[in-house]
Amino acid sequence: MDKNTRICIVGGGPAGLSAGMYLEKKGYENYTILERLDRVGGKCWSPHYNGRRYEMGAIMGVPSYYAVHDVEEFCGITHDGPKLNRNYKDGNGNVIEPFEPKKNILKIPRLLKMKKQVKKLGELLETKYKGYDLNGHRGVSEGRYEGFSQASAKREPVSGTNPNLKDLAMPFSEFCKLNGVELIQDIWIGPFTSFGYGYFDEIPAAYVLKYLDFQTCMNFVKINLWTWKEGTQYIWEQLNDHLKHPARLNSHIEKVERRDGKVYVTVNGETEEYDKIIVTAPLYIPNKRADGQIGMVDYFDAREDEKELFSKIDYERYDVLAVETKPEDHPEISYYVFDNMVPKKLGRLMVYYRRWKDTKDQVITTYALRKHKNSAEVPYETCKKMVLDDLKTMHNPASNVVNEWSVYYFPHVFSEDYANGWYEKVEGMQGKYDTYYAGEIMSFGDMDETAEYSRELVERFF
Ligand SMILES: Cc1cc2nc3c(=O)[nH]c(=O)nc-3n(C[C@H](O)[C@H](O)[C@H](O)COP(=O)(O)OP(=O)(O)OC[C@H]3O[C@@H](n4cnc5c(N)ncnc54)[C@H](O)[C@@H]3O)c2cc1C
Repeated sequence: MDKNTRICIVGGGPAGLSAGMYLEKKGYENYTILERLDRVGGKCWSPHYNGRRYEMGAIMGVPSYYAVHDVEEFCGITHDGPKLNRNYKDGNGNVIEPFEPKKNILKIPRLLKMKKQVKKLGELLETKYKGYDLNGHRGVSEGRYEGFSQASAKREPVSGTNPNLKDLAMPFSEFCKLNGVELIQDIWIGPFTSFGYGYFDEIPAAYVLKYLDFQTCMNFVKINLWTWKEGTQYIWEQLNDHLKHPARLNSHIEKVERRDGKVYVTVNGETEEYDKIIVTAPLYIPNKRADGQIGMVDYFDAREDEKELFSKIDYERYDVLAVETKPEDHPEISYYVFDNMVPKKLGRLMVYYRRWKDTKDQVITTYALRKHKNSAEVPYETCKKMVLDDLKTMHNPASNVVNEWSVYYFPHVFSEDYANGWYEKVEGMQGKYDTYYAGEIMSFGDMDETAEYSRELVERFF
Protein backbone atom coordinates (compact mmCIF):
# COMPACT_ATOMS: atom_id res chain seq x y z
CA MET A 1 0.00 0.00 0.00
CA ASP A 2 1.17 3.55 -0.74
CA LYS A 3 2.90 4.94 2.34
CA ASN A 4 0.99 8.22 1.90
CA THR A 5 -2.38 6.50 2.28
CA ARG A 6 -4.64 8.68 4.42
CA ILE A 7 -5.89 6.50 7.25
CA CYS A 8 -8.60 7.39 9.73
CA ILE A 9 -8.60 5.44 13.02
CA VAL A 10 -11.82 5.51 15.06
CA GLY A 11 -11.12 5.27 18.81
CA GLY A 12 -8.21 6.32 21.04
CA GLY A 13 -8.08 3.23 23.27
CA PRO A 14 -5.31 0.59 23.24
CA ALA A 15 -6.40 -0.75 19.82
CA GLY A 16 -6.57 2.65 18.07
CA LEU A 17 -3.40 4.13 19.57
CA SER A 18 -1.37 1.00 18.95
CA ALA A 19 -2.66 0.88 15.36
CA GLY A 20 -1.18 4.41 15.05
CA MET A 21 2.13 3.25 16.55
CA TYR A 22 2.49 0.19 14.33
CA LEU A 23 1.50 2.18 11.22
CA GLU A 24 4.09 4.80 12.09
CA LYS A 25 6.74 2.13 12.67
CA LYS A 26 5.99 0.77 9.20
CA GLY A 27 6.34 4.20 7.59
CA TYR A 28 2.69 5.28 7.36
CA GLU A 29 2.56 8.76 8.82
CA ASN A 30 -0.64 10.02 7.28
CA TYR A 31 -3.01 8.76 9.96
CA THR A 32 -5.57 10.52 12.14
CA ILE A 33 -6.98 9.10 15.39
CA LEU A 34 -10.46 10.32 16.34
CA GLU A 35 -11.49 9.87 19.97
CA ARG A 36 -14.99 10.80 21.13
CA LEU A 37 -14.06 11.45 24.79
CA ASP A 38 -11.81 14.11 26.33
CA ARG A 39 -9.21 11.49 27.26
CA VAL A 40 -7.35 8.60 25.65
CA GLY A 41 -7.08 5.05 26.98
CA GLY A 42 -10.68 3.86 26.54
CA LYS A 43 -11.28 1.18 29.15
CA CYS A 44 -7.87 1.92 30.65
CA TRP A 45 -9.13 4.72 32.86
CA SER A 46 -7.07 5.72 35.91
CA PRO A 47 -8.59 8.76 37.68
CA HIS A 48 -6.76 10.70 40.39
CA TYR A 49 -7.71 10.53 44.05
CA ASN A 50 -5.85 11.84 47.12
CA GLY A 51 -2.66 12.36 45.11
CA ARG A 52 -2.62 8.93 43.46
CA ARG A 53 -4.32 7.14 40.61
CA TYR A 54 -6.75 4.28 40.96
CA GLU A 55 -8.13 1.93 38.31
CA MET A 56 -11.71 2.15 37.05
CA GLY A 57 -10.82 -0.09 34.10
CA ALA A 58 -7.83 -2.30 33.26
CA ILE A 59 -5.53 -3.15 36.15
CA MET A 60 -2.87 -5.68 35.24
CA GLY A 61 -0.85 -7.47 32.63
CA VAL A 62 1.33 -10.57 32.44
CA PRO A 63 4.90 -11.02 31.13
CA SER A 64 3.57 -12.28 27.77
CA TYR A 65 1.96 -8.89 27.03
CA TYR A 66 4.32 -8.39 24.07
CA ALA A 67 2.34 -5.64 22.35
CA VAL A 68 2.03 -3.68 25.60
CA HIS A 69 5.76 -4.18 26.01
CA ASP A 70 6.28 -2.75 22.49
CA VAL A 71 4.40 0.35 23.69
CA GLU A 72 6.48 0.55 26.86
CA GLU A 73 9.67 0.42 24.78
CA PHE A 74 8.36 2.98 22.29
CA CYS A 75 7.68 5.37 25.18
CA GLY A 76 10.54 4.47 27.54
CA ILE A 77 8.27 3.43 30.41
CA THR A 78 7.85 0.26 32.42
CA HIS A 79 5.40 -1.62 34.64
CA ASP A 80 6.34 -0.06 37.96
CA GLY A 81 3.09 -0.38 39.91
CA PRO A 82 2.22 -1.84 43.29
CA LYS A 83 2.48 -5.60 43.68
CA LEU A 84 -0.85 -7.35 43.46
CA ASN A 85 -2.01 -9.66 46.17
CA ARG A 86 -5.31 -11.25 47.01
CA ASN A 87 -7.15 -13.58 49.28
CA TYR A 88 -10.52 -15.33 49.21
CA LYS A 89 -13.81 -14.96 51.07
CA ASP A 90 -16.95 -17.04 51.01
CA GLY A 91 -20.38 -15.51 50.42
CA ASN A 92 -20.75 -14.83 54.16
CA GLY A 93 -17.57 -12.79 54.38
CA ASN A 94 -15.35 -15.43 56.00
CA VAL A 95 -11.76 -15.59 54.81
CA ILE A 96 -11.11 -18.96 53.17
CA GLU A 97 -8.21 -20.73 51.47
CA PRO A 98 -9.98 -22.86 48.86
CA PHE A 99 -6.82 -24.31 47.31
CA GLU A 100 -4.98 -25.15 50.54
CA PRO A 101 -5.39 -28.92 51.25
CA LYS A 102 -4.61 -28.55 54.98
CA LYS A 103 -7.51 -26.10 55.38
CA ASN A 104 -9.90 -28.27 53.34
CA ILE A 105 -9.32 -31.82 54.54
CA LEU A 106 -12.65 -33.03 53.13
CA LYS A 107 -11.88 -31.56 49.75
CA ILE A 108 -8.46 -33.20 49.37
CA PRO A 109 -9.63 -35.82 46.79
CA ARG A 110 -11.19 -33.05 44.70
CA LEU A 111 -8.08 -30.87 44.96
CA LEU A 112 -5.86 -33.76 43.90
CA LYS A 113 -8.15 -34.48 40.97
CA MET A 114 -8.07 -30.82 40.02
CA LYS A 115 -4.28 -30.82 40.03
CA LYS A 116 -4.26 -33.82 37.68
CA GLN A 117 -6.78 -32.14 35.38
CA VAL A 118 -4.70 -28.96 35.19
CA LYS A 119 -1.76 -31.06 34.02
CA LYS A 120 -4.01 -32.88 31.55
CA LEU A 121 -5.34 -29.62 30.13
CA GLY A 122 -1.78 -28.33 29.70
CA GLU A 123 -0.92 -31.43 27.68
CA LEU A 124 -4.12 -31.31 25.62
CA LEU A 125 -3.55 -27.68 24.71
CA GLU A 126 -0.03 -28.50 23.47
CA THR A 127 -1.14 -31.50 21.43
CA LYS A 128 -4.85 -31.97 20.61
CA TYR A 129 -5.42 -28.20 20.46
CA LYS A 130 -2.14 -27.16 18.86
CA GLY A 131 -2.55 -23.65 17.46
CA TYR A 132 -5.21 -22.62 20.01
CA ASP A 133 -3.30 -19.69 21.44
CA LEU A 134 -2.76 -17.42 18.43
CA ASN A 135 -4.13 -13.91 18.62
CA GLY A 136 -7.53 -13.50 16.93
CA HIS A 137 -9.82 -16.23 15.68
CA ARG A 138 -8.78 -16.81 12.07
CA GLY A 139 -9.52 -20.32 10.84
CA VAL A 140 -10.67 -21.76 14.18
CA SER A 141 -14.22 -22.63 13.07
CA GLU A 142 -12.76 -24.36 9.99
CA GLY A 143 -10.22 -26.37 11.99
CA ARG A 144 -7.22 -24.22 11.02
CA TYR A 145 -4.87 -21.85 12.74
CA GLU A 146 -3.30 -18.87 11.12
CA GLY A 147 -1.51 -15.97 12.73
CA PHE A 148 1.54 -15.11 14.75
CA SER A 149 2.89 -17.30 17.53
CA GLN A 150 2.49 -15.81 20.98
CA ALA A 151 5.12 -18.16 22.42
CA SER A 152 7.79 -15.45 22.33
CA ALA A 153 8.14 -11.73 21.66
CA LYS A 154 9.32 -12.58 18.12
CA ARG A 155 5.81 -13.55 17.14
CA GLU A 156 6.73 -15.76 14.17
CA PRO A 157 4.03 -16.38 11.54
CA VAL A 158 2.49 -19.84 11.93
CA SER A 159 -0.32 -21.73 10.21
CA GLY A 160 -1.65 -25.25 9.91
CA THR A 161 -4.72 -27.44 10.05
CA ASN A 162 -6.10 -28.95 13.22
CA PRO A 163 -9.76 -30.08 13.04
CA ASN A 164 -9.91 -30.31 16.86
CA LEU A 165 -9.81 -26.53 17.05
CA LYS A 166 -13.48 -26.54 16.04
CA ASP A 167 -14.21 -27.64 19.64
CA LEU A 168 -13.25 -24.12 20.75
CA ALA A 169 -16.62 -22.84 19.52
CA MET A 170 -18.35 -24.73 22.37
CA PRO A 171 -19.16 -22.99 25.63
CA PHE A 172 -16.14 -23.46 27.89
CA SER A 173 -18.04 -25.69 30.37
CA GLU A 174 -18.94 -28.12 27.53
CA PHE A 175 -15.37 -28.02 26.23
CA CYS A 176 -14.10 -28.99 29.70
CA LYS A 177 -16.63 -31.81 29.96
CA LEU A 178 -15.70 -33.15 26.53
CA ASN A 179 -12.07 -33.31 27.59
CA GLY A 180 -12.63 -34.61 31.13
CA VAL A 181 -11.19 -31.50 32.80
CA GLU A 182 -14.30 -30.00 34.43
CA LEU A 183 -12.52 -29.17 37.67
CA ILE A 184 -10.08 -26.75 36.07
CA GLN A 185 -12.98 -24.30 35.84
CA ASP A 186 -12.51 -23.68 39.58
CA ILE A 187 -9.16 -22.09 38.73
CA TRP A 188 -9.89 -20.42 35.40
CA ILE A 189 -13.05 -18.76 36.81
CA GLY A 190 -11.07 -16.34 39.01
CA PRO A 191 -9.39 -14.34 36.27
CA PHE A 192 -12.33 -14.88 33.89
CA THR A 193 -15.83 -14.48 35.33
CA SER A 194 -14.88 -12.09 38.13
CA PHE A 195 -12.98 -10.02 35.54
CA GLY A 196 -16.30 -9.53 33.76
CA TYR A 197 -15.89 -11.95 30.87
CA GLY A 198 -19.12 -13.87 31.49
CA TYR A 199 -20.00 -17.37 32.61
CA PHE A 200 -18.50 -20.62 31.35
CA ASP A 201 -21.87 -22.04 30.24
CA GLU A 202 -22.34 -19.20 27.72
CA ILE A 203 -18.90 -18.09 26.49
CA PRO A 204 -17.10 -20.05 23.73
CA ALA A 205 -13.93 -21.80 24.89
CA ALA A 206 -11.94 -19.92 22.23
CA TYR A 207 -12.24 -16.64 24.13
CA VAL A 208 -11.40 -18.26 27.47
CA LEU A 209 -8.33 -20.09 26.22
CA LYS A 210 -6.93 -17.48 23.88
CA TYR A 211 -6.90 -15.00 26.77
CA LEU A 212 -6.15 -17.46 29.57
CA ASP A 213 -3.76 -19.65 27.63
CA PHE A 214 -2.01 -22.08 29.92
CA GLN A 215 0.98 -19.87 30.73
CA THR A 216 -1.15 -16.77 31.35
CA CYS A 217 -3.42 -18.66 33.72
CA MET A 218 -0.40 -19.96 35.63
CA ASN A 219 0.92 -16.39 35.86
CA PHE A 220 -2.38 -15.41 37.50
CA VAL A 221 -2.14 -18.35 39.91
CA LYS A 222 1.44 -17.41 40.86
CA ILE A 223 0.56 -13.68 40.89
CA ASN A 224 3.31 -13.02 38.39
CA LEU A 225 1.61 -9.86 37.19
CA TRP A 226 2.40 -6.34 35.96
CA THR A 227 0.80 -3.10 37.18
CA TRP A 228 1.59 0.56 36.52
CA LYS A 229 2.09 3.15 39.28
CA GLU A 230 0.28 5.85 37.32
CA GLY A 231 -2.34 3.38 36.16
CA THR A 232 -2.91 1.56 32.89
CA GLN A 233 -4.24 4.77 31.36
CA TYR A 234 -0.71 6.16 31.67
CA ILE A 235 0.56 3.59 29.13
CA TRP A 236 -1.81 4.96 26.54
CA GLU A 237 -1.38 8.62 27.54
CA GLN A 238 2.35 8.11 27.07
CA LEU A 239 1.83 6.43 23.72
CA ASN A 240 -0.44 9.27 22.64
CA ASP A 241 2.25 11.79 23.62
CA HIS A 242 4.91 9.89 21.65
CA LEU A 243 2.89 9.51 18.44
CA LYS A 244 3.55 11.92 15.57
CA HIS A 245 -0.21 12.53 15.44
CA PRO A 246 -1.84 12.33 18.88
CA ALA A 247 -5.53 11.50 18.99
CA ARG A 248 -7.96 14.32 18.30
CA LEU A 249 -10.09 14.36 21.45
CA ASN A 250 -13.79 15.28 21.66
CA SER A 251 -14.30 14.13 18.08
CA HIS A 252 -17.98 13.59 17.45
CA ILE A 253 -18.32 11.51 14.28
CA GLU A 254 -21.71 12.21 12.75
CA LYS A 255 -21.40 10.25 9.53
CA VAL A 256 -19.04 8.01 7.57
CA GLU A 257 -19.62 7.44 3.87
CA ARG A 258 -17.55 5.10 1.74
CA ARG A 259 -17.77 5.64 -2.01
CA ASP A 260 -15.55 5.64 -5.10
CA GLY A 261 -12.55 4.31 -3.16
CA LYS A 262 -12.64 7.15 -0.64
CA VAL A 263 -13.89 7.45 2.94
CA TYR A 264 -15.71 10.67 3.93
CA VAL A 265 -15.88 11.27 7.67
CA THR A 266 -18.07 14.06 9.03
CA VAL A 267 -16.62 15.00 12.40
CA ASN A 268 -17.67 17.98 14.53
CA GLY A 269 -19.55 19.41 11.52
CA GLU A 270 -16.68 19.17 8.96
CA THR A 271 -16.29 16.48 6.30
CA GLU A 272 -12.79 15.05 5.90
CA GLU A 273 -11.54 12.75 3.13
CA TYR A 274 -9.51 9.59 3.76
CA ASP A 275 -8.46 6.51 1.76
CA LYS A 276 -8.94 3.90 4.47
CA ILE A 277 -10.61 3.64 7.86
CA ILE A 278 -9.82 1.39 10.83
CA VAL A 279 -12.65 0.99 13.33
CA THR A 280 -11.62 0.11 16.89
CA ALA A 281 -14.80 1.50 18.49
CA PRO A 282 -17.84 -0.76 19.11
CA LEU A 283 -19.27 -2.21 15.89
CA TYR A 284 -22.75 -2.87 17.26
CA ILE A 285 -24.54 -2.10 20.50
CA PRO A 286 -27.88 -3.91 20.85
CA ASN A 287 -29.47 -1.51 23.35
CA LYS A 288 -29.61 2.20 24.16
CA ARG A 289 -26.82 3.08 26.57
CA ALA A 290 -26.84 5.84 29.19
CA ASP A 291 -23.34 6.96 28.15
CA GLY A 292 -24.53 7.61 24.58
CA GLN A 293 -22.16 5.11 22.96
CA ILE A 294 -23.49 3.68 19.72
CA GLY A 295 -22.24 1.05 17.30
CA MET A 296 -20.42 1.70 14.04
CA VAL A 297 -23.43 0.44 12.06
CA ASP A 298 -25.39 3.45 13.38
CA TYR A 299 -23.15 6.22 11.99
CA PHE A 300 -21.54 4.48 9.02
CA ASP A 301 -23.26 3.85 5.69
CA ALA A 302 -23.34 0.24 6.90
CA ARG A 303 -23.74 -2.39 4.19
CA GLU A 304 -26.08 -5.37 4.54
CA ASP A 305 -23.28 -7.82 5.35
CA GLU A 306 -21.92 -5.51 8.04
CA LYS A 307 -25.38 -5.05 9.58
CA GLU A 308 -26.16 -8.74 9.43
CA LEU A 309 -22.91 -9.95 10.96
CA PHE A 310 -22.40 -7.23 13.55
CA SER A 311 -25.95 -7.62 14.88
CA LYS A 312 -24.77 -10.95 16.33
CA ILE A 313 -22.41 -9.20 18.76
CA ASP A 314 -23.36 -9.05 22.42
CA TYR A 315 -21.37 -7.57 25.29
CA GLU A 316 -21.14 -7.87 29.07
CA ARG A 317 -22.86 -5.56 31.52
CA TYR A 318 -19.96 -5.10 33.92
CA ASP A 319 -20.17 -2.54 36.72
CA VAL A 320 -17.35 -0.91 38.63
CA LEU A 321 -17.70 1.15 41.81
CA ALA A 322 -14.90 3.08 43.50
CA VAL A 323 -15.72 3.47 47.18
CA GLU A 324 -14.20 5.01 50.27
CA THR A 325 -14.26 3.17 53.57
CA LYS A 326 -13.52 4.27 57.11
CA PRO A 327 -9.88 3.30 57.91
CA GLU A 328 -11.07 0.60 60.31
CA ASP A 329 -13.28 -0.90 57.58
CA HIS A 330 -10.62 -0.89 54.88
CA PRO A 331 -9.91 -4.42 53.53
CA GLU A 332 -6.54 -5.95 54.40
CA ILE A 333 -6.01 -6.94 50.80
CA SER A 334 -8.03 -7.62 47.60
CA TYR A 335 -10.60 -10.41 47.81
CA TYR A 336 -12.18 -12.87 45.38
CA VAL A 337 -15.67 -14.10 46.32
CA PHE A 338 -16.00 -17.37 44.38
CA ASP A 339 -19.51 -18.07 45.77
CA ASN A 340 -20.76 -15.03 43.81
CA MET A 341 -19.23 -16.01 40.45
CA VAL A 342 -22.21 -18.16 39.38
CA PRO A 343 -25.20 -17.07 37.24
CA LYS A 344 -27.65 -17.48 40.11
CA LYS A 345 -25.72 -14.78 42.01
CA LEU A 346 -25.96 -12.34 39.09
CA GLY A 347 -25.34 -8.75 40.20
CA ARG A 348 -23.44 -9.69 43.37
CA LEU A 349 -19.93 -8.63 44.34
CA MET A 350 -17.39 -10.99 42.74
CA VAL A 351 -14.11 -9.29 43.53
CA TYR A 352 -12.88 -6.13 45.22
CA TYR A 353 -9.51 -4.58 44.78
CA ARG A 354 -7.25 -2.73 47.20
CA ARG A 355 -4.50 -1.18 45.11
CA TRP A 356 -2.29 0.53 47.69
CA LYS A 357 -0.98 -1.31 50.74
CA ASP A 358 0.71 1.62 52.45
CA THR A 359 -2.37 3.78 52.97
CA LYS A 360 -6.05 3.51 53.82
CA ASP A 361 -7.08 6.86 52.32
CA GLN A 362 -7.44 5.45 48.81
CA VAL A 363 -10.54 3.96 47.22
CA ILE A 364 -11.24 0.29 46.75
CA THR A 365 -12.95 -0.84 43.55
CA THR A 366 -15.72 -3.43 43.24
CA TYR A 367 -16.81 -5.56 40.28
CA ALA A 368 -20.12 -7.20 39.38
CA LEU A 369 -21.78 -8.73 36.31
CA ARG A 370 -25.45 -8.04 35.59
CA LYS A 371 -26.17 -10.22 32.61
CA HIS A 372 -26.23 -13.85 31.68
CA LYS A 373 -27.41 -15.17 28.31
CA ASN A 374 -30.39 -17.02 29.76
CA SER A 375 -31.42 -14.72 32.63
CA ALA A 376 -33.09 -11.35 32.96
CA GLU A 377 -30.63 -8.47 33.20
CA VAL A 378 -30.27 -7.08 36.73
CA PRO A 379 -31.03 -3.31 36.64
CA TYR A 380 -28.03 -1.07 37.30
CA GLU A 381 -29.30 0.47 40.56
CA THR A 382 -30.32 -2.94 41.94
CA CYS A 383 -26.85 -4.27 41.24
CA LYS A 384 -25.22 -1.25 42.87
CA LYS A 385 -27.28 -1.75 46.00
CA MET A 386 -26.45 -5.47 46.12
CA VAL A 387 -22.73 -4.74 45.82
CA LEU A 388 -22.85 -2.17 48.62
CA ASP A 389 -24.79 -4.66 50.78
CA ASP A 390 -22.22 -7.34 49.96
CA LEU A 391 -19.40 -5.07 51.12
CA LYS A 392 -21.16 -4.91 54.50
CA THR A 393 -21.42 -8.71 54.53
CA MET A 394 -17.69 -8.86 53.74
CA HIS A 395 -17.03 -6.63 56.81
CA ASN A 396 -15.71 -3.84 54.61
CA PRO A 397 -18.65 -1.42 54.32
CA ALA A 398 -18.33 1.60 52.05
CA SER A 399 -18.74 5.07 53.53
CA ASN A 400 -19.09 6.80 50.18
CA VAL A 401 -19.24 6.03 46.45
CA VAL A 402 -16.57 8.12 44.68
CA ASN A 403 -16.99 6.92 41.10
CA GLU A 404 -19.13 4.45 39.18
CA TRP A 405 -19.10 3.01 35.69
CA SER A 406 -21.31 0.65 33.78
CA VAL A 407 -18.95 -0.46 31.07
CA TYR A 408 -19.54 -1.56 27.47
CA TYR A 409 -17.42 -4.66 28.07
CA PHE A 410 -16.05 -7.69 26.25
CA PRO A 411 -17.96 -7.76 22.96
CA HIS A 412 -18.24 -11.35 21.72
CA VAL A 413 -20.40 -13.73 19.70
CA PHE A 414 -22.02 -16.88 21.06
CA SER A 415 -21.19 -20.48 20.16
CA GLU A 416 -23.60 -20.96 17.27
CA ASP A 417 -22.35 -17.92 15.37
CA TYR A 418 -18.76 -18.75 16.24
CA ALA A 419 -19.18 -22.29 14.87
CA ASN A 420 -20.93 -20.92 11.78
CA GLY A 421 -17.82 -19.00 10.84
CA TRP A 422 -18.58 -15.49 12.11
CA TYR A 423 -14.86 -14.69 12.32
CA GLU A 424 -14.09 -16.20 8.91
CA LYS A 425 -16.77 -13.99 7.36
CA VAL A 426 -15.62 -10.79 9.09
CA GLU A 427 -11.94 -11.51 8.40
CA GLY A 428 -12.95 -12.03 4.77
CA MET A 429 -14.44 -8.51 4.77
CA GLN A 430 -11.26 -6.79 5.99
CA GLY A 431 -10.55 -4.01 3.52
CA LYS A 432 -13.67 -4.68 1.43
CA TYR A 433 -15.22 -1.23 1.94
CA ASP A 434 -11.82 0.43 2.51
CA THR A 435 -12.64 -0.46 6.10
CA TYR A 436 -10.72 -2.55 8.63
CA TYR A 437 -12.25 -3.87 11.84
CA ALA A 438 -10.07 -4.06 14.96
CA GLY A 439 -10.51 -3.66 18.73
CA GLU A 440 -11.78 -6.13 21.27
CA ILE A 441 -14.33 -8.05 19.21
CA MET A 442 -11.68 -9.18 16.74
CA SER A 443 -9.54 -10.86 19.38
CA PHE A 444 -10.40 -10.52 23.07
CA GLY A 445 -11.24 -7.81 25.59
CA ASP A 446 -7.87 -7.15 27.16
CA MET A 447 -5.21 -4.51 26.51
CA ASP A 448 -2.68 -6.81 24.97
CA GLU A 449 -4.95 -8.90 22.75
CA THR A 450 -6.43 -5.74 21.22
CA ALA A 451 -3.04 -4.04 20.74
CA GLU A 452 -1.63 -7.28 19.32
CA TYR A 453 -4.53 -7.52 16.87
CA SER A 454 -3.75 -3.99 15.67
CA ARG A 455 -0.12 -5.03 15.17
CA GLU A 456 -1.17 -8.00 13.09
CA LEU A 457 -3.71 -5.96 11.13
CA VAL A 458 -1.00 -3.50 10.13
CA GLU A 459 1.35 -6.39 9.33
CA ARG A 460 -1.23 -8.13 7.16
CA PHE A 461 -2.83 -5.28 5.25
CA PHE A 462 -0.57 -2.22 5.24
C1 LIG B 1 -13.14 -2.87 34.81
C2 LIG B 1 -12.19 -3.32 33.75
C3 LIG B 1 -11.10 -4.10 34.11
C4 LIG B 1 -10.21 -4.52 33.12
N1 LIG B 1 -9.09 -5.20 33.48
C5 LIG B 1 -8.14 -5.47 32.56
C6 LIG B 1 -6.88 -5.95 32.96
O1 LIG B 1 -6.60 -6.10 34.16
N2 LIG B 1 -5.97 -6.22 32.01
C7 LIG B 1 -6.22 -6.02 30.68
O2 LIG B 1 -5.35 -6.27 29.84
N3 LIG B 1 -7.41 -5.51 30.27
C8 LIG B 1 -8.36 -5.22 31.18
N4 LIG B 1 -9.54 -4.65 30.80
C9 LIG B 1 -9.89 -4.60 29.36
C10 LIG B 1 -9.16 -3.54 28.57
O3 LIG B 1 -9.26 -2.31 29.22
C11 LIG B 1 -9.80 -3.44 27.20
O4 LIG B 1 -9.86 -4.70 26.61
C12 LIG B 1 -9.03 -2.52 26.26
O5 LIG B 1 -9.05 -1.22 26.78
C13 LIG B 1 -9.68 -2.55 24.90
O6 LIG B 1 -9.06 -1.63 24.04
P1 LIG B 1 -9.86 -1.08 22.76
O7 LIG B 1 -9.04 0.01 22.21
O8 LIG B 1 -10.21 -2.23 21.88
O9 LIG B 1 -11.24 -0.55 23.33
P2 LIG B 1 -11.52 0.60 24.37
O10 LIG B 1 -10.54 0.59 25.46
O11 LIG B 1 -12.95 0.47 24.72
O12 LIG B 1 -11.30 1.92 23.52
C14 LIG B 1 -12.20 2.30 22.51
C15 LIG B 1 -12.13 3.80 22.36
O13 LIG B 1 -13.01 4.18 21.30
C16 LIG B 1 -13.69 5.37 21.70
N5 LIG B 1 -14.93 5.47 20.92
C17 LIG B 1 -16.07 4.77 21.07
N6 LIG B 1 -16.98 5.16 20.15
C18 LIG B 1 -16.39 6.12 19.41
C19 LIG B 1 -16.80 6.91 18.31
N7 LIG B 1 -18.03 6.81 17.80
N8 LIG B 1 -15.93 7.82 17.79
C20 LIG B 1 -14.67 7.96 18.32
N9 LIG B 1 -14.22 7.23 19.37
C21 LIG B 1 -15.08 6.32 19.89
C22 LIG B 1 -13.93 5.16 23.18
O14 LIG B 1 -14.21 6.37 23.84
C23 LIG B 1 -12.61 4.54 23.60
O15 LIG B 1 -11.65 5.52 23.97
C24 LIG B 1 -10.43 -4.17 31.76
C25 LIG B 1 -11.52 -3.35 31.42
C26 LIG B 1 -12.37 -2.92 32.41
C27 LIG B 1 -13.51 -2.02 32.04
